[in-house]
Amino acid sequence: MTLVRIDEFDLWQCSLLDPSSWNCSSWPNHPLDCKIYPLVLILHEGSPWLGIDTNCPFSLHISREILQQKAAAIKSTDWARIPAPAKSALIVHLEKEGVDGVVPILSLED
Ligand code: SF4
Repeated sequence: MTLVRIDEFDLWQCSLLDPSSWNCSSWPNHPLDCKIYPLVLILHEGSPWLGIDTNCPFSLHISREILQQKAAAIKSTDWARIPAPAKSALIVHLEKEGVDGVVPILSLED
């Protein structure tokens, strides 16, 4: 997956997005990053974290049920393709109403 420049609109878009239909051409085998968005895997102080992109309007409404669905997508990932540090316990850091600070949601060692 790469980004391609769309000069007409002065923006960049994913190379797998079909501009005629606005559908993803790799669906349902799209990348993990897309499956879990607006959650994002990040390396923070040397440890893998699951963060949330608060720039996404949906991030303000994400429920624990959806969170668990996304966690399931992460658990079912082929981790042979993921760097070793990301295989240890993942933690979600939510910056939203009612869930302050750091909330552990899963361990890939389970
Ligand atoms: S879901 Fe992911 S891979 Fe598919 S078009 Fe969107 S950004 Fe690209």
